Amino acid sequence: MNDAAETAKETAAFEETGRRLFAGPCTFVMGVAKFEQLPPMQGVEIAMAGRSNVGKSSLVNALTGRRALARVSHTPGRTQELNFFRIGDALTLVDLPGYGFAQAPEAKVKAWTRLIVDFLRGRTSLARVYVLIDARHGIKGTDKPILDMLDRSAVSYQIVLTKADELKSGQTETRLAEVASAIARRPAAHPDILLTSSRTDQGMPQLRGAIARLLAERTGSNIQVPAPTISH
Ligand code: GDP
Repeated sequence: MNDAAETAKETAAFEETGRRLFAGPCTFVMGVAKFEQLPPMQGVEIAMAGRSNVGKSSLVNALTGRRALARVSHTPGRTQELNFFRIGDALTLVDLPGYGFAQAPEAKVKAWTRLIVDFLRGRTSLARVYVLIDARHGIKGTDKPILDMLDRSAVSYQIVLTKADELKSGQTETRLAEVASAIARRPAAHPDILLTSSRTDQGMPQLRGAIARLLAERTGSNIQVPAPTISH
């Protein structure tokens, strides 16, 4: 088998592992409003960040195929919390509060920033932050503080473009190129940009696969290559 075929086979195997991972048990663990309440580091953590309305809840729902799950993060009182979800036995997904509310009081923004900085600092279990960016708008000024914070804290992050279904033909390549150049000099940014839509499921298998790969790398476990289908 040549290299390209080998890579494609491995990618397909991770996507299958990812599909199984997210099809298994996914539960809400806890919401955290204060640093002292953070659960102990355990297993592998990933976090989802993004401006409010970017489509974060929809993405978590689409990833897990469970509608009620991410609704938790939208319930009153929980929107400013870090919400922890357990995916299978080894992975925790942390939904970070949406940022960029135009009318948010300064004190609230400060408290939010403090909590996130405290969370990111020294959280060695945190393998990657997925930063969601609306594909229609690209990276905006409101996204820069989180990217700066991640670069400064040396926390690996990857850009996930949401609502790709809203792009007209021809816009996709332009947006991808623009985002790629915006992150090129950012030291903690993963160079690959994921293009997704919760509405059409575009990019979801790839995102699940990327998470499964990360989990395997972090836990040192071998990928589970799906058993061959036997046709009669
Ligand atoms: P959150 O505030 O980041 O959690 O965003 P939501 O998931 O609540 O979504 C905000 C709005 O964007 C809602 O009106 C969704 O219906 C819409 N939305 C979310 N995902 C998509 C998508 O993939 N495509 C389109 N066209 N709209 C989406």
